[in-house]
Amino acid sequence: MNRRAIVIGAGLAGSSVAERLAARGWSIELIERAEAAGQGASGNLAGVLRPLPSLDDNRLARLTRAGFLYARQHFAALEAAGLALRWRPTGVLHLARDEAHAATQRRIVEARQPSADELRFVDRRQAAQLAGWPVSGGGWWFAGGGWVAPASLCRVNLARHADRIRPHYGRQVACIDRPADLWRAYDSAGQMIAEAPILVLANAGDAKRFALAEHLPLRVARGQVSHLPAPAGSPPDVVVCRSGYVTPAIDGVRCVGATFSVDDGELGLRQADTAENLARLDFILPGYGDGLSASMLGGRVGFRPLVPDRLPMIGAIGDAAAIDPERRPARLAEVPRVPGLYLNNGFGARGIVWSALAGELLACLITGAAPPLAGDLVGAVDPGRFLLRGRQQRLRNLAVQRPPG
Ligand SMILES: Cc1cc2nc3c(=O)[nH]c(=O)nc-3n(C[C@H](O)[C@H](O)[C@H](O)COP(=O)(O)OP(=O)(O)OC[C@H]3O[C@@H](n4cnc5c(N)ncnc54)[C@H](O)[C@@H]3O)c2cc1C
Repeated sequence: MNRRAIVIGAGLAGSSVAERLAARGWSIELIERAEAAGQGASGNLAGVLRPLPSLDDNRLARLTRAGFLYARQHFAALEAAGLALRWRPTGVLHLARDEAHAATQRRIVEARQPSADELRFVDRRQAAQLAGWPVSGGGWWFAGGGWVAPASLCRVNLARHADRIRPHYGRQVACIDRPADLWRAYDSAGQMIAEAPILVLANAGDAKRFALAEHLPLRVARGQVSHLPAPAGSPPDVVVCRSGYVTPAIDGVRCVGATFSVDDGELGLRQADTAENLARLDFILPGYGDGLSASMLGGRVGFRPLVPDRLPMIGAIGDAAAIDPERRPARLAEVPRVPGLYLNNGFGARGIVWSALAGELLACLITGAAPPLAGDLVGAVDPGRFLLRGRQQRLRNLAVQRPPG
């Protein structure tokens, strides 16, 4: 096979699949409209890395666990290669929202029996000790979790095999086509930026601009993070979550977040959202934000690409135009595909957890290698799922909700 691919988007999604393909000797044309990698949703100062267990060990739980474990492995490989990934495995304390949630958290630990390194339940006293601040109850302790600076992950992904990844920064793809057997990406002046047999759309919510991706139920959720001043020596030194999160100090700043509003395109910081984050902070660490007001704090806005079923979209794009709406396929294997066109998208609020695994999975699907996930999970994230019989109606009934966490 001619081992060349175009990847559109240099966020977590694009940089991870570019890295995994380049590791297999592929040459990548990476097109990014910003002047550098990790400037979109993947540009926050820090985000949280930890799995999300459930009592029934559902697909979301299995996928976040696999993503978490793969990310840890990937980070170790990047560090072994001498690359300066910014992250810290400080541990993540996920406090229960209330008594009922605490009981569920306990039951999940009892039912799943994870090793103490992976997950344990800590009572209120232990939780306060870990946080270095009084808290209202106990919760999960993920000793191997931590915070990650996502833009640094994008940069080191691209640096690892830099000789095989050719970035085209400051170029926005306006249209794509495949006149013969090669995909071409053009700018708005009609100038061709790159061509290759394989094209990966890793350009978050903007993927919908291309007609071949229009059928995907891709939405965007605006998220605002607030930055708190972090005096030297102040707690917490671990990530603490409770319907939101607060990070340890990173360059003198702590991140608190994040808001979640669907189909909201406002780019600038909103003071009401900063106030919401301060309320979130008070829910996590009561009294911690006393003396702070919304007008004092900076932050950052990003737009999460998400899908109503909360699972990402990783794989070959289905050919919606080739399907008779009256006779939709019943199985994924029957979904016709657009030749050479792939998607790595819809990571929602879990891009830090999923991107490394997603990059590897997509590289396997493109090259025909054995995927790193069980077959049912590969099917669960297949973008072709939205073309299956009965799926449209079910999707219309699914509201896009704030993810659990
Ligand atoms: C406030 C907030 C908090 C979050 N917290 C966490 C967290 O704690 N843990 C976690 O796991 N995840 C978290 N996430 C989610 C995570 O950051 C996202 O899932 C992830 O960054 C999405 O990566 P992406 O590459 O799909 O999108 P992006 O990073 O947005 O990358 C898409 C890229 O495509 C480029 N692009 C778009 N259109 C074009 C075009 N036509 N031509 C060229 N380039 C184009 C854009 O410029 C952009 O760089 C958070 C997200 C937000 C917004």
